[in-house]
Parts: sequence; C-alpha cells; structure tokens
Amino acid sequence: MVDAKSIKDSVSKKINSAKSRISSQVPAHKHCKICGITIKATSEDRICKSQECVDDFEKRGKNDKIMRIMFGVFFLAIVAPIALRLLGFGN
Ligand SMILES: [Zn+2]
Repeated sequence: MVDAKSIKDSVSKKINSAKSRISSQVPAHKHCKICGITIKATSEDRICKSQECVDDFEKRGKNDKIMRIMFGVFFLAIVAPIALRLLGFGN
C-alpha cells in the first residue's frame, strides 16, 4: 500500500530544501541597470562600478533631461493655450 502522507512529507521536504538552497545562494542584491551584472543591494546607484556603465548611465540621464525639456516645451506650446481657452482666457 502506498503511504500518501509519507510521500507528501518527502515531497514537501524536497521543495523546502530546494527553496532554502535557492535563497541561500541568492542573497539580497540588485542588478546593474546597464549590463545587468549583480551588484550589492546596499549600493546607492543602480549601476555597477564599470566605467562603460557609468558613461552609459550618464548619457541616458542626459537623454532623459532632454526628453523632459521637450515635453515641457510641447506642453507649453500645445496644452497650455488649450487649457487657458477652456478656462475662459484668451476670448
Ligand atoms: Zn554594469
């Protein structure tokens, strides 16, 4: 006769040991935004120390800034006049 309980127990034991093995092998960590390498969870930046990644990250930051400025200009040029008209200005 098959003892269902003992099978269940051994299976859950296996799962638990697999889980603990995984969690012990992978401590809390972050990944570099640029290259995806594992970095310390305590590090402030989301990138590793590699110069390539630092440069790339700065480049992206500049692009973000330009995009924000473009959006601001777009907003002022297109949305603001419409909003002002809707609010009763400019009639
Ligand atoms: Zn990196």
